[in-house]
Amino acid sequence: LGSKSPEKVPEIRRDPVTGIWSILAVERSRRPGAVEDEVVRITAPCPFCPGNESLTPPEIWAVGREGGAADSPGWKLRVIPNLYPALSPGAAGKGWRREVKAGLAARGYHEVIIHSPDHRRSLAEMEPGETVRLMRAYRLRYRELAVLPGIRQVVIILNHGRAAGASLEHPHTQVFALPLVPQVLRDELRHTRRRSRQGCPLCAEAAASKSEGRVVAENETWMAFAPYAARFPFETWLMPVRHEPGFERIVHGELEGMAEIIPRVLRGLSRLLEDPPYNLFIHGAPCDGKDYQHYHWHVELIPRITRGAGFELSTGMYINITSPEEAAKQLRETI
Ligand SMILES: [Zn+2]
Ligand SMILES: [Zn+2]
Repeated sequence: LGSKSPEKVPEIRRDPVTGIWSILAVERSRRPGAVEDEVVRITAPCPFCPGNESLTPPEIWAVGREGGAADSPGWKLRVIPNLYPALSPGAAGKGWRREVKAGLAARGYHEVIIHSPDHRRSLAEMEPGETVRLMRAYRLRYRELAVLPGIRQVVIILNHGRAAGASLEHPHTQVFALPLVPQVLRDELRHTRRRSRQGCPLCAEAAASKSEGRVVAENETWMAFAPYAARFPFETWLMPVRHEPGFERIVHGELEGMAEIIPRVLRGLSRLLEDPPYNLFIHGAPCDGKDYQHYHWHVELIPRITRGAGFELSTGMYINITSPEEAAKQLRETI
């Protein structure tokens, strides 16, 4: 509300030494539970529960409300702008370079998809029809944001559990539309392009994980496996079997396959590790109009049962204490 001082508009800065980009979004410090171990008042009403629609910004889209006005109860799935966005459509201005400094306005979109009216039911516990609805919502928001001017990458992220960064308990997914291609994706794109003369490395991983006992689950259109060089215990990747660079081009059958395999793997994980916190995200080709035919979009699922420390921050390398072969075996047997 009121006039925004310049430092309140989020900006993206590039570190002159590492080249790593970080979003500076000081407004997000105001959100409840922003700081780790901060006690969140459990008496506070949940802004994502039906009846509390006025606590969120006006909705972008909702499903299932028969009649009834926007921002009223009766919905089955609801999409809203993040109240404390890391990116803002109003962040204006061109990028800058001054001496060693570089940055750009964090112009983009930061949305929240509220999975269902049910405060308690996680994605693992949703009914098949509900998970299809959710995947359709992912696709719809992805497609709409990907074509907006200046957007280069759309990232869809689900944080489950406090230790995985979920500051609100009510199951939800965040959608970030970014004005640049982030580092991790650039690295993946570069590495797969270099290897693409020998074929798609992810298609090869699908075949290798079968012969090496790393398959976690399969259906007609999807496959879940423990990656060869898993960074975290029980890290699982889920991929459409058909080679395709972008999530936005997911076809009929694949969407249903995705809606079936993700909750099935999550249920296995939940049973095996007693509902661990996790991060789940979609990695797809950038939407900047360039050719990424070599890239194979996929979903990464990272259970957060160990804590990274100085070594990971210092080196960008990970120490994994569980072999992917053993993790896949345990998960597969639980599923
Ligand atoms: Zn709630
Ligand atoms: Zn492929």
